[in-house]
Amino acid sequence: MKVTDHIKNANGKTLFSFEIVTPVKGKNIQDLYNNIDPLMEFNPPFIDVTTSREEYVYVEKDGLLDRKTVRKRPGTLGISVSLKHKYNIDPVPHILCGGFTKEETEYMLVDCHYLEIDNVVALRGDAMKHQKYFEPTKGGHTYACELVHQISDLNNGKFLHEENLTEFKTDFCIGVAGYPEKHMEAPSLQTDLKRLKAKVDAGADYVVTQMFFDNQKYFDFVKMAKEAGINIPIIPGIKPLAVNRHLQLLPHVFSIDLPEDLINAVDNCKNNAAVRQVGIEWAIQQSKELKEAGVPVLHYYSMGKSDNVQAIAQALF
Ligand code: FAD
Repeated sequence: MKVTDHIKNANGKTLFSFEIVTPVKGKNIQDLYNNIDPLMEFNPPFIDVTTSREEYVYVEKDGLLDRKTVRKRPGTLGISVSLKHKYNIDPVPHILCGGFTKEETEYMLVDCHYLEIDNVVALRGDAMKHQKYFEPTKGGHTYACELVHQISDLNNGKFLHEENLTEFKTDFCIGVAGYPEKHMEAPSLQTDLKRLKAKVDAGADYVVTQMFFDNQKYFDFVKMAKEAGINIPIIPGIKPLAVNRHLQLLPHVFSIDLPEDLINAVDNCKNNAAVRQVGIEWAIQQSKELKEAGVPVLHYYSMGKSDNVQAIAQALF
C-alpha cells in the first residue's frame, strides 16, 4: 500500500515508522532482523531502506595501485523484499541519482514494480567521499527533481527511450527529502523550498525531513512550505542523539543546529550510556510535542541499534 494511503487510513492518528541502513558487505542480515524485531510491536506500516553511495578503493595489481568503485552497503532491493515477506510491511527503497545511470534507475524501478513495491524515496545522494561537491554520474541525474520526473513518467507508462509502451504502467508513491534548516548547499531556505516545490510539481507525494532537534524549526518549515504551495504530507524525521561525538558530527555532516540545552545535557554526561539516555529523553519530548501537533508519521533514523528507538516508541505508541 502507498505511504499516502497509510496516512489517509490512519484518520489523523500518528503512525510510527523508521529507516534502516543496509548492512556492510559481508555482514549477516540476522543482525538487522534482531534490531527490527523489537520495533514490530509498534506496527510500522512502512520501513525505509537506504541506498549507499559507491566509494573509491585502491587495490594492488601488478605492483601498481588500481582504483575500483565499490558499494560497501549493497542490498537495498533484496532487503526491501525480505522485509515485505518477513514482516508484511511496505518497504520503501531509496533511489539515488548519484552512482546510477538513468537506464539503471529504470531497471531498478521495473524490478520494484514486479516485486510489488509501491513506494520509493527519490534522492540525489551526497558527494562521494573524495569529492567536495556532488558530481552527477555520467548518464545519470543531477538533481532529485529530475529523478522524480523519471518516476512520474514511468507511472504514466513512459520509458526512457520508448514512449508508447502504455501496457506497462507503474504506480509508485514518491517520497522526497525536505530540510527544515535548509540543505547545506542551498543559498537560503526560501530557495531550497522552491527546489522542494519543483519536486512536488514533478510528482512527489510526500516529504520526509532531515533530522532536527528543535521542533520549532519543523513547525516553521511546514508553515513556509504551505505558503510556498506545498500541500503534501511532511513527515518529520527524528534521530536520537546517541554518542558524545554526535555533538560535532551531526552539525558538520547534516548542517543542522543543536539546541544549547541538549548540548549542555550531553556535556554533563559521564559516559556514552548516559548520553544515549539523554538522546532518548530528548527524542521522547520532541516526539510527544510533534504527536500532539498531529504530525502524520513519526519517522526515526535508527541507524544500527534499535534499543533507543524502541524506548522512544514505548513512551509514545
Ligand atoms: P536535491 O533535491 O536534488 O537537492 C540538492 C541540492 O540542490 C539542494 O541544495 C537544492 O536546493 C539544490 N537544487 C535542487 N534543484 C536545483 C536546481 N534545479 N538548480 C540548482 N540547485 C538545485 N543519501 C544517500 O546517499 N542514501 C540514502 O538512502 C539517503 N536517504 C535520505 C533520506 C532522507 C529523508 C534525507 C533527508 C536524506 C537522505 N539522504 C540519503 C541524503 C541526501 O541524498 C542528501 O541530503 C543530498 O545531499 C541531497 O539530496 P536531495 O534528494 O535532497 O537533493
